[in-house]
Amino acid sequence: MPELNKIVVIGAGQAGISAAAKLRSLGFAGELILIGEEPELPYQRPPLTKKFLLGELPRERLYIKPAAFYEDQNITVISNVRVESIVPDDRSLVLSNGEKCSWDKLVVTTGSVPMDLPASFQPVPSSVQTIRSLADIDRLQPRFSENKRLLIVGGGYIGLEIAAVAASCGLEVTLVELQDRLLKRVASTDTATYFHELHEKRGVNIRTSTSLAALAGADGDTLEATFDDGSSQIVDLTVLGIGIRPDVTLAEAAGLEIENGISVDAFGQTSHPDIYAAGDCTSFVYKGRRVRLESVQNAIDQAEKVAEAIMGEATAYDPVPWFWSDQYDTKLQIAGLNTGFDQTVVRAGARENSQSVWYFSGEQFLAVDAMNDPKSYMTGRKWLMAGINPDAARIASGVDLKECV
Ligand SMILES: Cc1cc2nc3c(=O)[nH]c(=O)nc-3n(C[C@H](O)[C@H](O)[C@H](O)COP(=O)(O)OP(=O)(O)OC[C@H]3O[C@@H](n4cnc5c(N)ncnc54)[C@H](O)[C@@H]3O)c2cc1C
Repeated sequence: MPELNKIVVIGAGQAGISAAAKLRSLGFAGELILIGEEPELPYQRPPLTKKFLLGELPRERLYIKPAAFYEDQNITVISNVRVESIVPDDRSLVLSNGEKCSWDKLVVTTGSVPMDLPASFQPVPSSVQTIRSLADIDRLQPRFSENKRLLIVGGGYIGLEIAAVAASCGLEVTLVELQDRLLKRVASTDTATYFHELHEKRGVNIRTSTSLAALAGADGDTLEATFDDGSSQIVDLTVLGIGIRPDVTLAEAAGLEIENGISVDAFGQTSHPDIYAAGDCTSFVYKGRRVRLESVQNAIDQAEKVAEAIMGEATAYDPVPWFWSDQYDTKLQIAGLNTGFDQTVVRAGARENSQSVWYFSGEQFLAVDAMNDPKSYMTGRKWLMAGINPDAARIASGVDLKECV
């Protein structure tokens, strides 16, 4: 086996820093380089559309590790530099600053990129934007002021979180969703109805089965948005939350196997034996199906598995996925993955606005969405970890959760 002196991680995000930190904690003493195209040290993205946009979280609290950590751990962070290509045969990278960088093992954590409007909307006016990075929020925040008319395109979690902050800040919010309900790709009708009602109570104008047909300049940043039913509306700013795609550009050009993301095995290894990948950019086999997860849990856990595999301590990645979203005073916690469910049961929680939705495929318990109900979340997660299938009817009946298994 060739010597392992130098590991390079592409992408200074959640998975990138998790892999680097774990490599050091497992005793890797060689050269460790983290290359990121953003100007920032690795930071958390979830607060961007929650407390940070609300102005309730100071900027320095976003950073995953303090600057001193990188020095202490001897991790070289190269910021503001994009990796332009991976040259597997030469075990090297070509960087946007013109330099080359060699590696013995490479970890690709390039994350994902937000979808943009289709070609018919190009060029996209400057008051229209997607949200992925701190720079995106820095651009949005100054224009995020009371009485501004905000159009959100897309009723997924990002769109709903922005709607919640905007409505709380006194903006006039319209949210359009192409599908006939919110959260169609990721949650049941029960969960979608809960959030639909929550937002409508706060004055958000939700228009489902509606798509954006055109955006035309009106006055300065102000645009006239036209929808597919012919209706139109004047808006001051537009945020797109229409999904993300895994960033596989580099991996694909390097000839790595791609299947709805960079295809990796249970140890995060790609189709090249010395190249690993983790986080949003990957797909892996979960309960017999290849899936892609867009979550902090996946970025951290999969990256740590990659570090273990590189250090010769490989154990298979077999997660119980978890995710959360904050909207107004509702905290949603999700355990498991609901893909393939054929039945849901709803359980009322102990307090107002508290509810949980439990997903099953036949008798197999798949996942729970818990709204202001940490007990259901914790219990569901515990059952998923232990492979326990609770009784759906008993859950719905409201008896103590202990009596449902
Ligand atoms: C606004 C927002 C809210 C979210 N809320 C939640 C939440 O509540 N709960 C949850 O679990 N998850 C949430 N997520 C998802 C979560 O943040 C992601 O799943 C996680 O960040 C994925 O980590 P990653 O390292 O795979 O990708 P990223 O964090 O996206 O990091 C990838 C990095 O690679 C860089 N990069 C890409 N290509 C190159 C290149 N060629 N050269 C150099 N650098 C490159 C990118 O610029 C980026 O900095 C949210 C995401 C966003 C955007």
